[in-house]
Amino acid sequence: LNFFIKVIEDMGKLTEENRNYWTKLDSDIGDGDHGINLSIGFRAIKKYMDETDLSNTDIKGFLKKVGMTLLGKVGGASGPLYGTLFMKMASPLTEETEVTSEQLAEMIIQGIEGIESRGKATVGEKTMVDALEPGKQVLAENKATITTETLNEFEVKMQEGAESTIPMVAKKGRALRLGDRAIGYKDPGAESSQMLLKVLADHLS
Ligand code: ADP
Ligand code: MG
Ligand code: MG
Repeated sequence: LNFFIKVIEDMGKLTEENRNYWTKLDSDIGDGDHGINLSIGFRAIKKYMDETDLSNTDIKGFLKKVGMTLLGKVGGASGPLYGTLFMKMASPLTEETEVTSEQLAEMIIQGIEGIESRGKATVGEKTMVDALEPGKQVLAENKATITTETLNEFEVKMQEGAESTIPMVAKKGRALRLGDRAIGYKDPGAESSQMLLKVLADHLS
């Protein structure tokens, strides 16, 4: 559990540091609130962590709470999507107090699949899926033996996936209505998801 608490704390810090950056990306092709949305979500999670005695919580309960908070507190499209990530990560667990890196890889795969089925976006539609799906494939191919190299490749593929959204026209989300005018801008959700999941991978390696 301590591992996940630290990961979520660091994701919260990263969100505060990149609040303006992600909002700027979203003001180029969206409604300019992506960093603000995630900051609202992670501040609500921090409040929960500060006010709760987490020693009575298990990993499943903690991740579910994180997911529910993002789902409930974040207004934009990204809230339910990130909420689903953590809810689906929690769902294969029972009352484990520890998870192996192989189990965690499977949890992340399930989480990303949750985002894909909830948002119905596929690769090439200029969304967070463009960053997440290549990362998911790295984990799926290596899930029996997660090494530092695997984690590094996971990060690189997600980063490249986020970059790949720059020349794209959007087929999902708010940037859809911009048509060709979305070309040349990185998708904010692809960038935030690449950076947030890097936090998780960095804690593993
Ligand atoms: P909103 O667009 O409602 O203001 P945010 O700005 O917080 O919400 O999030 C926008 C991001 O959400 C986009 O950059 C994109 O990556 C992601 N997104 C939007 N719709 C979808 C979808 N259907 N599937 C996956 N990701 C999506
Ligand atoms: Mg927005
Ligand atoms: Mg919005």
